[in-house]
Amino acid sequence: MTDNRNVWIFIEQEEGQPAGVSLELVSKGRELADTLGSEVWAVLCGYQVGELAETLIHYGADRVLLADDPELELYRTLPYARVAIDLVKARQPYIFLIGATPVGRDLAPRIASAVRAGLTADCTDLQIGDYTSKQEKKTYQDLLYQIRPAFGGNLIATIVNPHRHPQMATVREGVMRRREPDLSRQGVVEPVEPVFAPSDLALQVLSRQTRESTVNLKDSPVIVAGGAGVSSKEEFQLVEDLANLLGGEVGASRAAVDAGYISREHQVGQTGTTVRPRLYIAAGISGAVQHRAGMDESNKIIAINTDPNAPIFQIAHYKIVGDVAEVLPLLIKALREKAK
Ligand SMILES: Cc1cc2nc3c(=O)[nH]c(=O)nc-3n(C[C@H](O)[C@H](O)[C@H](O)COP(=O)(O)OP(=O)(O)OC[C@H]3O[C@@H](n4cnc5c(N)ncnc54)[C@H](O)[C@@H]3O)c2cc1C
Repeated sequence: MTDNRNVWIFIEQEEGQPAGVSLELVSKGRELADTLGSEVWAVLCGYQVGELAETLIHYGADRVLLADDPELELYRTLPYARVAIDLVKARQPYIFLIGATPVGRDLAPRIASAVRAGLTADCTDLQIGDYTSKQEKKTYQDLLYQIRPAFGGNLIATIVNPHRHPQMATVREGVMRRREPDLSRQGVVEPVEPVFAPSDLALQVLSRQTRESTVNLKDSPVIVAGGAGVSSKEEFQLVEDLANLLGGEVGASRAAVDAGYISREHQVGQTGTTVRPRLYIAAGISGAVQHRAGMDESNKIIAINTDPNAPIFQIAHYKIVGDVAEVLPLLIKALREKAK
């Protein structure tokens, strides 16, 4: 257990560019630390990534623990875990947050098991609050409420870990709001010297091939998404045409992805991407809770569905009861005519 109340964030970076979720977590960490009256510490691992420390301070970090070492140039589980585990054991943070990315999902359980802490995966909200254990007849103050959907998204569970610290959670990308950076913020950059055992370095990366993702759902102001109400891959082209005309991205429900209409990168929802565009058009999507979890904070939602009682209409600002095969061509035609 620890006396300090510091909130740590693991910073994921690629060639010195921070992952969006890391900046979102520094922003959220700032909020939590302000509630606790404590500090936000960022754990930054990499090689020649020191310049990023200032950005992290601008987003809300008070201190950046900078492990800058050639062995950390590319993410490898064991060296990264070594740095994080040694730091946690030595400094004992109160909370440790990590993005629920492939890297975070690989790293977080290793740290948690090494320091014998609990870990809640894929949180969608975090808050500070008290917890009274009826069994122990004791109230624990200022715990981290680790909030996430459970039982297939039908319940929202709040999970606390009163006994083992740090309280660890991974958080999905796009869920927390990123603060505006404050360029006047000052903080401390503390270099730390990693000490690797030979076994930490057993795995060497011989070559690496990367592919740029062409889908950027998170930053697109307009998303046109199609679901199982679209009857075929050919008809799904209407969804793509409308998205192109509006200068937006194509989204999809899991059912549309499963049907092979479009690749998994386009999936919106609990196990897809979380989005907050200015306009979200849901075409032939029922509005299952797992889909809504990824888009219900969109600024304006237009839903097209043949079923007037479809759950998506509960959150839609504009409701079109109709067949996508008829409505989408009409919208496309109207936009094309307007563009002439
Ligand atoms: C753990 C878990 C995670 C999940 N994660 C996700 C996720 O990330 N994203 C996600 O989307 N889902 C997710 N799901 C699946 C989710 O529960 C739903 O099954 C899925 O969202 C349904 O997709 P849909 O709305 O396209 O299909 P359906 O639920 O089949 O709905 C199709 C809709 O189209 C309407 N329709 C039919 N024909 C037409 C027509 N011609 N014109 C207009 N409307 C029509 C119907 O009235 C219906 O409302 C998850 C499920 C689980 C258990």
